[in-house]
Amino acid sequence: MDLCNLSVIKTLMSDAGITFRKEYGQNFLTNRIIPEDIADNCTENPESLIIEIGPGIGCLTAELASRYRKVVAIEIDRGLIPILDKTLAEFDNVTVINEDVMKIDLCRLVEEYSDGMPVSVCANLPYYITTPILMYLLESGVKFSSITVMVQNEVAARLAAKPGSSDYGAITAILGYYGTVKKLFKVSAGCFVPAPKVDSAVVRIDLYKEPLYTPKDEKLFRNTIKAAFEMRRKTLQNALSAKLGYSKELISAAILDIGESENVRGERLSTEDFVKLSDYLSEHKN
Ligand code: SAM
Repeated sequence: MDLCNLSVIKTLMSDAGITFRKEYGQNFLTNRIIPEDIADNCTENPESLIIEIGPGIGCLTAELASRYRKVVAIEIDRGLIPILDKTLAEFDNVTVINEDVMKIDLCRLVEEYSDGMPVSVCANLPYYITTPILMYLLESGVKFSSITVMVQNEVAARLAAKPGSSDYGAITAILGYYGTVKKLFKVSAGCFVPAPKVDSAVVRIDLYKEPLYTPKDEKLFRNTIKAAFEMRRKTLQNALSAKLGYSKELISAAILDIGESENVRGERLSTEDFVKLSDYLSEHKN
């Protein structure tokens, strides 16, 4: 069964008595090369456990199941479960869980299913909740090898941006704390049903096995990044003194200490710069 064929998708859904649910960000792939390419590129290790978020009717799930040892797919929409039972029936290495991914204890899930396997995430994410899901995965405490996600093209540009570019933002700087990000390929809006308004892109995040940076005060490190980008038009010095409550003199000294000029803006700073900046503030705050 070609799960990217438009009439197959429509027949499966009408037989199950359901329609596309916009509130769940349901845009299903209709070009079978795309799930094949995503599955090919999400990890190099066939012995992996893959966690998929939002299998839909299972087009990517089937590609993952035929390449990797085990797939656990988490789908919020109860109406899709009978369809997945049918479309994934030939695979004995897939478990479908009917749940909101944001309510799942990922550490427990991985403990239950990984059996020592390396764990990766692979998903065509619902766009209404892309960043919260990414942060939920990164902050879950699970040591994922990689996270490969399809997101809106402009979000992909932000995730993979370099310091100094207009796309660089808080999410980019935070991602740099967890791993390296690579944009793999673009997918046009015409490859989905219903077609979204914008194009998409696939991004792969390779997580550091051991932390590359160890900020002295992790909360302050995160707050420094948040503050730097909340007031984008202000200089870093003004943004940080307004939001973090430290004196301008201390912040100015911290900025000079990392080798930047007083009037620098937040988007010029790499993740490492933010670690050094927050370390300086943490050491000199009293
Ligand atoms: N994987 C399919 C594909 O590529 O054609 C469907 C992708 S569609 C963009 C997103 C999927 O995520 C939908 O099946 C939707 O029901 C599901 N979804 C939305 N919010 C979710 C959540 N919070 N937890 C789990 N699944 C969710």
